[in-house]
Amino acid sequence: MLEARSAVRSLHSYRPPLAGRQGLRFDFNENTVGCSPRVLARLRSLDAEVLARYPEREPVEQHVATFLSLEKEQVLLTNGVDEAIHLLCSTYLGPDDEAIIVVPTFAMYAIFAKAEGARVIEVLAGQDFSFPLKSFLESITPRTRLIAVANPNNPTGAAVDGNVLLQIAHAAPHAALLVDEAYYEFHGETILDRAPWPENLFVARTFSKAYGLAGLRIGILAGHSAQMAMVRRVASPYNVNAVALAVSPEALQDQDYVQNYVAEVKRGRGALEQELARLGLHYWPSRANFVLVRIGAAHEEFVQAFRARGILVRDRNSDPGCEGCVRLTVGSEEHTQILIAALREVAEQLKLRCEVQA
Ligand code: PMP
Repeated sequence: MLEARSAVRSLHSYRPPLAGRQGLRFDFNENTVGCSPRVLARLRSLDAEVLARYPEREPVEQHVATFLSLEKEQVLLTNGVDEAIHLLCSTYLGPDDEAIIVVPTFAMYAIFAKAEGARVIEVLAGQDFSFPLKSFLESITPRTRLIAVANPNNPTGAAVDGNVLLQIAHAAPHAALLVDEAYYEFHGETILDRAPWPENLFVARTFSKAYGLAGLRIGILAGHSAQMAMVRRVASPYNVNAVALAVSPEALQDQDYVQNYVAEVKRGRGALEQELARLGLHYWPSRANFVLVRIGAAHEEFVQAFRARGILVRDRNSDPGCEGCVRLTVGSEEHTQILIAALREVAEQLKLRCEVQA
């Protein structure tokens, strides 16, 4: 009888709650208003020829490399950061190798690492989700082959200093260090400008968040040319579709659109954090386009009460260290005002402050 590999059989299936997402989307950290109109115009201009051809990644990789002040050989476009993680796991991890992550964090690192048969070492974040540098360094062994750090982290919004990341890269030269900058635009700090790069450092970016193109599936993996040549070997030459390749340069060019959106999100994040403080709810200051809030035992009712108002937020209760927590995406100014108004109502309805204080 046909059986999947044992590493795959022991994986849990990961099913983010995508079904029935009617309403305002504050649950997946997407851009709540969508991409630049210039991107849509480019999309509408595409003809049958674009779809008839196999997609050619290289010219767009050159474009992205120039945008990031990198060489073309240092950049690989991927089917979202998800694929970048998958490719790094395929390139560097074998059975019984070790991958280190800080938890709580984005789910796909552990999934792709385990699928290769690797052992995932989970280092619990420190006080208030601070980066646990000491225990992290102590977890590095000769078997460590992959380290993944989301900066800022999801679902906590916490950021880690570039010096800490470089220290890790130097402490584990035999491991690929992925710094996942999916939320870079909201944070504004990057390890990319910290030359000279250690050879084991990789950086991922995405068009899914600030650029409003999560449905398009395009991300960026950057690293040392020699290492990127290895990663390229395991990638399909057609991993990024023709539509994504055709419109992403336009998305990069319209920086005004992205920067305006980012500015709105930052203002909204401040307003949301202020409101959470006023309501006496515990939250963690965020460097990304979402805020993690401790609701307590009523976390499910909280999510339901928002849903009843046509608003989607994400329960993170099952993430390590996130008992009773819900994550709220911050969107456009208008959307954030709606979120804050609903938050006031729901807090009142569920008598949240009382419960937190009790
Ligand atoms: N990394 C992090 C930290 C994320 O939160 C997410 C999306 N939730 C991703 C990567 C996935 O990005 P993409 O859509 O580019 O695959």
